[in-house]
Amino acid sequence: MAEESSTHFIHEKIEADLTSKKVTNIVTRFPPEPNGYLHIGHAKAIHLDFGTAIKYNGRCHLRFDDTNPEAEDEKYVKAIQEDIRWLGYDWGEHLYWASSYFDKMEKYARSLIEKGSAYVCNLSQEEFKSYRGIPTEKGLEPPARDNTIEKNLELFDQMKSGKFEEGAFVLRARIDMSSPNLHLRDPAIYRIKHSKHHHTGDTYYIYPMYDFAHCIEDSIEGITHSLCTLEFEVHRPLYEWILKELELYCPQQIEFARLNISYMVMSKRKLLELVKENYVSGWDDPRLPTISGMRRRGYTANAIRNLCNQVGCTKFESLTEIDLLEACVRNDLNETSKRAMAVLDPIRLIIENFPENKTEELQIPNHPQDESYGKRIVPFTKECFIEREDYMDDAPNKFKRFTIGREVRLRGAYCVKCTKAERDADGKVIAIYGTYDPETRGVNPADGRKVKGTVHWISTKYAYDAEIRLYDRLFTIENPLSISEKKFTDFVNDSSLKIIKAKIEQSLVHANPGDRFQFERVGYFCTDLDHNSSKAVFNRTLSLRAPKKI
Ligand code: ATP
Ligand code: MG
Repeated sequence: MAEESSTHFIHEKIEADLTSKKVTNIVTRFPPEPNGYLHIGHAKAIHLDFGTAIKYNGRCHLRFDDTNPEAEDEKYVKAIQEDIRWLGYDWGEHLYWASSYFDKMEKYARSLIEKGSAYVCNLSQEEFKSYRGIPTEKGLEPPARDNTIEKNLELFDQMKSGKFEEGAFVLRARIDMSSPNLHLRDPAIYRIKHSKHHHTGDTYYIYPMYDFAHCIEDSIEGITHSLCTLEFEVHRPLYEWILKELELYCPQQIEFARLNISYMVMSKRKLLELVKENYVSGWDDPRLPTISGMRRRGYTANAIRNLCNQVGCTKFESLTEIDLLEACVRNDLNETSKRAMAVLDPIRLIIENFPENKTEELQIPNHPQDESYGKRIVPFTKECFIEREDYMDDAPNKFKRFTIGREVRLRGAYCVKCTKAERDADGKVIAIYGTYDPETRGVNPADGRKVKGTVHWISTKYAYDAEIRLYDRLFTIENPLSISEKKFTDFVNDSSLKIIKAKIEQSLVHANPGDRFQFERVGYFCTDLDHNSSKAVFNRTLSLRAPKKI
């Protein structure tokens, strides 16, 4: 499938390693923790990990980093696999679990104790903080640091057997309490947890810390290049220290900048908060930057991969404009989505000189450039719905749509000249009247008629009702996490979802769940999960064009 097409410092490093024969077969991994749904930031990592493996004919492992039993759940495991597949990637037989290495990891931890490179520490997390200190000053050595190996082995075995309460002890790597890198000041590598693990159940009472587990997982699987985000740069010395102490193979860790997008938050913890506090309807709410939310919104995997290629891979933190993502989606949908007609804010158009009970079947192409999309039959009658904004009283010359005396083409049908407007008691226009010219039938008729505008329409007799969900950005400011004295949820956009009733053409009623369309002149839409032939429900993916910047 899709390789990672941009070339950047990571690929330069890989190519140098291949040329120097340091490695012969590239092995990468994508290591999600199953504690939430994937978001578009993960899509960047997936694209990089899987795409790089494809580019260099290597392989990419999917490894669940399930070392924290409390937050993890089988439902996340399923959703993560579905999302990766949907993005166009496959791990084949290379599905792994950190938890299946737990026995090995315990043995490695024990061997560190036996070497005098790890000890069981009784300080609480809080207490240890004051021992650890700050980078510019040396830390203090915890009292247990010089316990005998025998004592440490005994305590560790008791930790393992479930004798102690959570938090009573941790196992620490014995490295350097005066290192300027705080991660090397005797970090915890094993802790006690009594929760049930989604994969191993009640088997274990102790769990490895991420830093201890991750490098061992990479090493066991023979990962050549372990690609991770920049915050792990300061963890790299610890990654290398652990593998060296254990005399294990050490993969090359390379860090890259996270993907951040304006008007979005990415962290799974923050997304969970939005879900739990009902700011959104669930992890797949179409306003969320989750892969499942974007899929439900109508975004395509191709558009997301294109975005990843365009932003490339750097060492610098930055904020990608949401407009770039939306442009990728529009480009893809413009090429791939079927056209159809829907009227979101209908008024009636009555064609005075069209026969009362006649239905004409017009053939309209489903795509303006690509004939392979075929044609559909759209019925035309004396009365149609048109968009309210396509009529204006006393319109200026540049208004190309209906005003009294002006001729406009109905897409794929006829030219109609507007004769009058009808109003309700409040003076609001409820219908307009016009006359059609039978000589102007068709999609692009060679009638040579110079009409200024073309509008979309639906025969009132054959129109169906639909519920349309109009989504806007979930936040009102570019970076909701940037205002330190406020919570990010203070910036949730109250009008990020509007639900309206619209009129749609018949072909849309029978669309399948997830089908994507361009409603002509209106925007990109897709059927929502609860769409069916008795209740049509569409999500607006995006408006047709980016809103103008003020
Ligand atoms: P979050 O911060 O959203 O909770 P995480 O890093 O804790 O994400 P993991 O499940 O550990 O989530 O992530 C799996 C992989 O995805 C990691 O290698 C991580 O570096 C990468 N990743 C996470 N967020 C981003 C992002 N915004 N851009 C690029 N890669 C990311
Ligand atoms: Mg994480």
